[in-house]
Amino acid sequence: MNNPKILVVEDDSTVRNLITTTLKSNNYTYITAANGEAAIAAATTQQPDVVFLDLGLPDLDGVEVIKRIRSWSQMPIIVISARSEDGDKVAALDAGADDYLTKPFSVTELLARLRVAQRRITTVEGKPGDSVFHNGKLTVDYAAGCASLNGEELKLTPTEYKLLCLLAKDAGKVLTHT
Ligand code: CA
Repeated sequence: MNNPKILVVEDDSTVRNLITTTLKSNNYTYITAANGEAAIAAATTQQPDVVFLDLGLPDLDGVEVIKRIRSWSQMPIIVISARSEDGDKVAALDAGADDYLTKPFSVTELLARLRVAQRRITTVEGKPGDSVFHNGKLTVDYAAGCASLNGEELKLTPTEYKLLCLLAKDAGKVLTHT
C-alpha cells in the first residue's frame, strides 16, 4: 500500500500542527480542513484513507460530519474530543466513528490509533464509491445529503433518505425488510 492519506479536521491550529507534524515525520501524507463543510468536501474529493475529526468545529457539529460521510463511505473516522465533549463522543461512536482520542493525547497514542485504523482499511470491502448516485431520473448526492428526481429536490424525512441511500447502494439487489 502507498503512504496512506490522512484527512485532519481540526480548527485549533496548534493541535492541527501537532498532528500534521507527527504524520509527516512518520511518512504519512495528509490534507487538512479547519471546519465541517471543508471536511466533507475534502472527504468527497480527496478520498482519504483515514479521517481524524475534531468534534468541536466552528460551523457543523462533528457528529453531523460523521453522519454525512457515513451516508456514502465507510472510511475509518477517528474522533478527537476534549473532555468536555464526552457526551458527544458517545454520539460520535453511535453515528459511525471507529475510534476516539481524548485531548490532550500523546503522539504515540495517535500513531497507535492510526495503525489500528489502517488494519481496518484492508478489511473494509471494496473502494469508497462515488459520492453521487444516478439511476434514470433519480440522483442521490451523498455528500450534500439530498436527493432529486428530474432535477427537482425531493423532500424526504431522515428515515426516507436513509432508506433511499441504502436502496441506491444495493441497487439491483434484493433487500430484506429489516
Ligand atoms: Ca475544536
